[in-house]
Amino acid sequence: MDSYTQKYVDSFMAELTAKNPGEKEFHQAVKEVLESVAPYIVAHPYLMEQKILERIVEPERIIMFRVPWLDDEGNIQINKGYRVQNSSAIGPYKGGIRFHPSVNLSIMKFLAFEQTFKNSLTTLPMGAGKGGSDFNPKGKSDNEVMRFCQSFMTELSKHIGADTDVPAGDIGVGGREIGYMFGQYKRLRNEFTGVLTGKGQSWGGSHIRPEATGYGVCYFASAMLATKGDSYEGKTVAISGSGNVAQYAAKKALQLGAKVVTMSDSNGYIYDPEGIDADKLAYVMELKNIYRGRIKEYAEKYPSAQYFPGERPWGVKCDIAMPCATQNELNGEEARTLIANGCMCVAEGANMPSTPEAIEVFLSSKILYSPGKASNAGGVATSGLEMTQNSMRLKWTPDEVDRHLKQIMTDIHEACVKYGTEEDGYVNYVKGANIAGFIKVADAMMAQGLV
Ligand code: NDP
Repeated sequence: MDSYTQKYVDSFMAELTAKNPGEKEFHQAVKEVLESVAPYIVAHPYLMEQKILERIVEPERIIMFRVPWLDDEGNIQINKGYRVQNSSAIGPYKGGIRFHPSVNLSIMKFLAFEQTFKNSLTTLPMGAGKGGSDFNPKGKSDNEVMRFCQSFMTELSKHIGADTDVPAGDIGVGGREIGYMFGQYKRLRNEFTGVLTGKGQSWGGSHIRPEATGYGVCYFASAMLATKGDSYEGKTVAISGSGNVAQYAAKKALQLGAKVVTMSDSNGYIYDPEGIDADKLAYVMELKNIYRGRIKEYAEKYPSAQYFPGERPWGVKCDIAMPCATQNELNGEEARTLIANGCMCVAEGANMPSTPEAIEVFLSSKILYSPGKASNAGGVATSGLEMTQNSMRLKWTPDEVDRHLKQIMTDIHEACVKYGTEEDGYVNYVKGANIAGFIKVADAMMAQGLV
């Protein structure tokens, strides 16, 4: 980066940090994008004059609200609710809702910011938003989760709509929570519309939506591997997380001929050197989705596996690593261990799971590395396909949706190659994804004037 561009980056970050104090995840996400797009912005002075990036980092609207609800003992509980509507430049706001005790404004803003570029990459007309609450669904009864979701939606319903803002799931928000929120929206508004995605199959949901993020990561990683004449066949894969994204990333990796050896949750990870095969994965899905159990129970059921409490799976020898749990779950030291153990490809399923130091290790080692905004975009893309089907009042077959998903992931990969290929031929997918995502949003903003 030349000194003029570096000065632009430094002054941009200084101003952002001063205006948004204490929001460390948000600063981290902006810095990563800024470092990629700054040379492009400097080369196109009108983008600087029009303050396009300055506008993108200021959400169009932030809604923060109280969520009061009654627990099963009749006690009053209060949580915080958020919706960050970041950009409507290329379509209605679109992005998930997260229920997790760590949720705060910084995390909501980083996710909404990332979503802006991700949704642009999908090729579909979707703006970007993100929402959630510091509510912890773990250990709550179904009735408590329902009462919370109803209270959350009572306020959120005033700010969303099928043509305004269409939320979906994220950490802690799956089919059950989407159902309760959809029911409440319908009751309040007296309309049956595609206001949420990730709906059930019998009431407006799309085939392949639950699978889409995990499958999409594997499709994207397959495209990366193909650039080296390689594939998943025979590879050893380490996955973190055991939720929605991790489960379907594991399922597709198995279908593509890989051996998956790890899964985790926030308490620890399991390592099964014999591989988590289809039957064992079915057990994990039942354990997590129906019984809402912990991953350590896997090691109690299968003696081939070992449970490592309080640890993350990145010390395990693997060819492909797929972080699918949460932000900043893979640090620089773990990245170096992965490389030393021969890992050739890191495909992110989670949002911003690798720390800036880890990303630096991957890029300087020149391994295949894809940021979540590119490789996990299959989830929101299929949400976009759910919106399409809802608008047309019809439902595509699983094969049709899967075909669209594959095509979208291939197109995102091509966009990354187009904008991310460096002089020595190495594809920097971070740069590619950020520039490709930025250009489309910037063009739309230029066309729509100062709004
Ligand atoms: P789930 O709630 O289904 O699963 C989350 C998994 O990550 C669980 O195994 C959870 O363990 C683990 N986890 C959560 N927080 C932490 C933590 N602080 N440390 C270690 N492990 C943790 O969420 P999803 O699978 O939907 O989401 C996973 C990631 O993928 C997130 O980053 C999300 O933003 C991203 N994503 C999700 C999409 C989707 O379609 N669902 C789309 C695109 C991205 P535990 O049970 O102990 O909490």
